[in-house]
Amino acid sequence: MGAQEVREGFVRLYGAEPEGVWAAPGRVNLIGEHTDYNDGFVMPFALPHTAVAAVSRRTDGVLRLHSADLDSGVAELRLDDLRPESDKSWTAYPAGVVWALREAGHAVTGADVHLSSTVPSGAGLSSSAALEVVVALALNDLYDLGLPGWQLARLCQRAENVYVGAPTGIMDQTASACCEAGHALFLDTRDLSQKQIPLDLAAEGLRLLVVDTQVTHAHSDGEYGKRRAGCEKGAALLGVDALRDIAYADLDAALDRLGDEEEVRRLVRHVVTEDQRVEQVVSLLESGGDTRAVGPVLTAGHASLRDDFRVSCPELDLVVDTALAHGALGARMTGGGFGGSAIVLAEATDVEALTKAVEEAFAAAGHKAPRVFEAVPAAGARRLN
Ligand code: ADP
Ligand code: MG
Repeated sequence: MGAQEVREGFVRLYGAEPEGVWAAPGRVNLIGEHTDYNDGFVMPFALPHTAVAAVSRRTDGVLRLHSADLDSGVAELRLDDLRPESDKSWTAYPAGVVWALREAGHAVTGADVHLSSTVPSGAGLSSSAALEVVVALALNDLYDLGLPGWQLARLCQRAENVYVGAPTGIMDQTASACCEAGHALFLDTRDLSQKQIPLDLAAEGLRLLVVDTQVTHAHSDGEYGKRRAGCEKGAALLGVDALRDIAYADLDAALDRLGDEEEVRRLVRHVVTEDQRVEQVVSLLESGGDTRAVGPVLTAGHASLRDDFRVSCPELDLVVDTALAHGALGARMTGGGFGGSAIVLAEATDVEALTKAVEEAFAAAGHKAPRVFEAVPAAGARRLN
């Protein structure tokens, strides 16, 4: 839905023009998976799919929320009643942002919000971060808070971790808030330092496809928690603050020290090699050489997520295997895993045949048809009007 439609929807609902309209994108992660809660590196870029919100301030301590994409009506909440983990519906994401802003001492006195999003929900493309960031940016502008993107991302992460109750890392919110069109974002999740890396695949005759498997395996939340706990155990056993502190050159020695902790060894190996893969992709892209060389690094990342971190699933493996068998330069699951989406780097000329092959493989395996689209690095969160 475009800015004008969302603006009109706001007027119909609330009977007045909104003070403004903002957009925040979903993201796809090129490389660096399950590293963001290990203080490591990630490299997402923004999708053209966005959450668009029309917003006005209120002065009476009331927050009204409406999504054009659901038929749940207008939710009316009192700011003084907002309590972490009290809300199990979608409104927890925007309300959590207001809660986090107020908890941080920002004088937000209420808002009317009407939004709509084209980010596929639950596809591992961060529809939740898009919702949070669009509301955070709107309130930042309207209440003149002057917070930079990385700080809005931190507040949105706090909203999701504490208010919603979902233990996510900092990548999704930072990507939505800070990405730039035509670039991937090389982010150090320890100090949030960032670097925009130009990524113009079309100029080299390449395409990046996103394949949304349209499945979410039910146990994904619990498994995510287990992986996080396993990583923390690994860091503790190795005497470091986070797995980020294990240098790639010291990996073998670190694995030896873990002795018979086989599961922890696998988790540590993934995280340390994945950080190395992010650095490898950054140097490949920055050297201005052939971007095709990124392909095998993506594929190695998938193998590590499948075999060591064990967060893939049959549908994701099928996308990767089929794409590689039909000429893809590289492919990997992206996002947390257990469903969601995979990415495929391919020659533009191979895209059609490859897409067909993946669709046929899904049909043959009896899976629901996947949704395939091309991803071009788009702009981060912004005011539309
Ligand atoms: P992801 O971020 O990977 O898409 P999450 O489970 O983190 O998956 O977030 C999905 C949730 O975000 C949905 O269950 C819903 O509560 C909320 N959401 C996403 N898009 C919308 C929307 N357009 N309107 C209302 N809520 C939405
Ligand atoms: Mg999410």
